[in-house]
Amino acid sequence: MEKLSLDEATKRLLEQVEPLQEAEEISLWDAKNRILAEDVFATRNQPPFARSPLDGYAVQSEDIKSATKEAPARLTVIEEVAAGRVGQKQVTAGTAVRIMTGAPIPKGADAIVRQEDTDYGEGRVCVYQSVGHYGNYCFEGEDYRAGDCLMKKGSLLGAAHVGVLASLGLKKALVLRKVRVALITTGDEIVLPGETLPEGKIYDSNLFSLGVQLQSWGVELTAKRRVGDEAGLVAAMIAKEAKDADMVITTGGVSVGKKDIMHDALKLLDGQRIFWRVAIKPGMPTLCARYKGKLILCLSGNPYAAAVNLELLVRPLLAKLTGRKDLCLRRKRASLQNGYHKKSAVTRYVRAYYREGEAWIANGSNDSGVLSSLCGCNCLVEIPAGTGQIGQGGQVWVVMIG
Ligand code: AMP
Ligand code: MG
Repeated sequence: MEKLSLDEATKRLLEQVEPLQEAEEISLWDAKNRILAEDVFATRNQPPFARSPLDGYAVQSEDIKSATKEAPARLTVIEEVAAGRVGQKQVTAGTAVRIMTGAPIPKGADAIVRQEDTDYGEGRVCVYQSVGHYGNYCFEGEDYRAGDCLMKKGSLLGAAHVGVLASLGLKKALVLRKVRVALITTGDEIVLPGETLPEGKIYDSNLFSLGVQLQSWGVELTAKRRVGDEAGLVAAMIAKEAKDADMVITTGGVSVGKKDIMHDALKLLDGQRIFWRVAIKPGMPTLCARYKGKLILCLSGNPYAAAVNLELLVRPLLAKLTGRKDLCLRRKRASLQNGYHKKSAVTRYVRAYYREGEAWIANGSNDSGVLSSLCGCNCLVEIPAGTGQIGQGGQVWVVMIG
């Protein structure tokens, strides 16, 4: 089978899925980073009443228009209103109401004088400063008004969105359900962290590096499983876990070795192969299939390769499923600060750090089996097939990751 370009592989993958439609109601406490499944309209004005933005006196601006330190305006204080209370009195000419931040502005008043501009008087107050009509006056509905469309369906909810929903008096939000992924790592040599490590074995890092990344992109992991290199066992596990998931992602066993059993496992399942092998390094031997309407994405077991595959292939897939634009691949032009000398027959992705138009390739190995030098990286430098040496200051494209 021909190797596909990354663009072609992505196109074929995206053809396999349609945006999710199902919504669920969740607590506001869980709503950050979820996608709103309906337009939200204001059911009332916010704030629901005109209120004072500071501690001071509610007055008629006309009464204090020529007030100065030398010639203060003298007013009778008729009431005191704290936040959460409603005053009984109306401000009339020559009177004032002592008012605290957040309290409703009494009828008749059209301005608030800061208490610092008065003698803090109780029965009577001297005002030393004039304030214009509607000075220091927070209007009812200045945040939003009943009927305003506050958020559109498809919005990614941030902390402010959640706060606005709460300000409407809501406890729940209607959001798109999460994408469900079953994550399965394969390999006879793989041992779960926490177990003792026999000779010849290694700990499973893919389950964790891929799993936490998927979760941070809003995915619900319906399974976190590990299975040995036996096609029948792998097939049975995929069949079982595919039931509750939108897609199954596996790592390991996709190359051409004797123990690369993913091909046989998919045959056993009678899965329909969509592609095998993408012309990128690392992560070339990626296998993609469809089984009972579910997508099965089999990635290399090499930890860096699997991580690159997740960023380049799975992330755009999640963007389409959820409509989240922030999950689309983001490329930036950068000037490479430390050069790159290796040639490659296929497009190569080299881990790096990007900041303000400059990129630095990470110290240490870029080998597909090496994970530690990916720590702290925030991009992949994309080196197109056939590129010769790139000197210091050479212009490259980077793909942002994370
Ligand atoms: P494979 O893709 O199965 O040929 O594995 C390629 C390399 O990645 C081998 O050195 C494996 O031991 C290693 N590997 C496979 N799966 C994992 C995993 N889940 N965590 C860490 N390394 C792995
Ligand atoms: Mg293997």
